[in-house]
Amino acid sequence: MEKKNIVTEHEEKTPAKTAIIIGAGPAGLTAAYEMLKSTDYKPIILEASAYIGGISRTALHNGNRMDIGGHRFFTKDKRILALWKEIMPDMLTRPRVSRIFYRRKFFDYPLSLKWRTIRNMGVWRTLLVGAGYVTARIFRRKEVSLEAFMINRFGTPLYKMFFKDYTAKVWGRDPSVIDASWGAQRIRGLSLKKLILTALGLNKERETSLIEEFSYPKHGPGEFYEQLADKVRELGGEIRMNSEVAGITRDAVGLTHVTLANGERVEGDYFFSSMPIKDLLAAMNDVPSEAADVAKNLPYRDFMTVGLLADKLKIKEGGKNYPPDCWIYIQEHDVKLGRLQIFNNWSPYMVEDENTVWIGLEYFCDEGDDLWEMPDDAFIDFAVDELEKIDILERGDVKDSVRLRVKKAYPAYFDSYSEFGLVREFLDKMPNLYCIGRNGQHRYNNMDHSMLTALCAVDALKNGTNAEKVWNVNTEGGYHESA
Ligand SMILES: Cc1cc2nc3c(=O)[nH]c(=O)nc-3n(C[C@H](O)[C@H](O)[C@H](O)COP(=O)(O)OP(=O)(O)OC[C@H]3O[C@@H](n4cnc5c(N)ncnc54)[C@H](O)[C@@H]3O)c2cc1C
Repeated sequence: MEKKNIVTEHEEKTPAKTAIIIGAGPAGLTAAYEMLKSTDYKPIILEASAYIGGISRTALHNGNRMDIGGHRFFTKDKRILALWKEIMPDMLTRPRVSRIFYRRKFFDYPLSLKWRTIRNMGVWRTLLVGAGYVTARIFRRKEVSLEAFMINRFGTPLYKMFFKDYTAKVWGRDPSVIDASWGAQRIRGLSLKKLILTALGLNKERETSLIEEFSYPKHGPGEFYEQLADKVRELGGEIRMNSEVAGITRDAVGLTHVTLANGERVEGDYFFSSMPIKDLLAAMNDVPSEAADVAKNLPYRDFMTVGLLADKLKIKEGGKNYPPDCWIYIQEHDVKLGRLQIFNNWSPYMVEDENTVWIGLEYFCDEGDDLWEMPDDAFIDFAVDELEKIDILERGDVKDSVRLRVKKAYPAYFDSYSEFGLVREFLDKMPNLYCIGRNGQHRYNNMDHSMLTALCAVDALKNGTNAEKVWNVNTEGGYHESA
């Protein structure tokens, strides 16, 4: 791999050789790889866990592979696309099949204008949806909340059927108290009008939420990050696993070193952090109290997934033991289950025995709440009960199970987030610190944007510019569907 010798004015003054990167997730690995390819800095990645890939890793359970969530590789960014192709040219191309499960029936997502949709919804409800949409177009609401944002685009009946409960499940808050900016970032562009135009073939502009296919590594997203980690090591980068950064020391000029949970001190010239902003500020010395308070109260949503291996599902279709969906949004009000992944449909290589179905039941929760605290056996029992209740599976068909907890899966945009500017102002004063990734920026970034922040941070390092461009990733660009 060719290395460019870039000597900036900045480097001449302060010869800087080591860059400490916190986290071996998509952002941290990308930063290390880019740095090795295009600078002379030596990256040292410090990873708290025993796993490569962060929340985009793939878990292995008795021969079956589990994506924590379902990670579609889709991007509108050319640099990221080129990087994905360079690291893994042979990704699978998968059709995006995903539906809503509501009142024990399937509805296309995005909603389509097929006869089946009207039949499943019922003529009366369909008329109600139409009337609600027209009313919402005439009497537009001030977009002070996510609820108002969605009603303006879909009308009240459709919002109540398909968005209200699911959004509340994901965030643990009613959409009426969630800021509209979340909708502006995640579902800008999407509306009932666009759905109708798309169904009629009249929508020239394809919304990201309506993408029909995506790329996927044969053995799940973790495989991609394992390969990226191998490249980092090949090029001379260091990745230290089980190395949790517990202390971060700064002086008047910037950061000087980090201290691991085992007390070891690691010095560096530059620091790239993909650890949660809340933890970053908590670990740092001399943080002004205003910024420290905002960071301490930043909200997150945690996540749990139950992997179930079964002989078949009751909702099987098309001659297989399961339906064709990659994932299914569960809109049933009587269960806590949020989404169901069918890993066989993501990649047949995820499942050891093709005659079985391997599914992931996704629950959104808060660390320490009742669901989170339930012991594994009890929680798996509860999850199987829920699937039986909504007629998706019979308990007797379950052959194996596992439960995984994921802390801080979703950085949330409420509570102290409105004062995030104070945190930024403080962080911007440290010229040798770059905050990258999803929790590293407290932004609802998908893998592509998480990786792009890393590329922009290395650009800034090379050019001796500030982190402004790094923070600007995913503030202007196109929407990427909820994850
Ligand atoms: C359910 C779900 C579904 C998703 N689906 C998609 C999708 O379809 N497509 C898509 O593009 N994106 C998707 N995403 C988003 C994607 O997972 C993230 O964008 C991406 O993983 C963020 O990468 P990151 O490196 O910023 O952070 P992370 O993946 O969180 O990695 C951060 C790493 O830092 C480590 N770390 C944290 N604190 C410390 C510390 N103190 N010291 C050392 N190490 C530390 C962590 O252990 C972790 O390994 C999804 C996310 C979720 C939760």
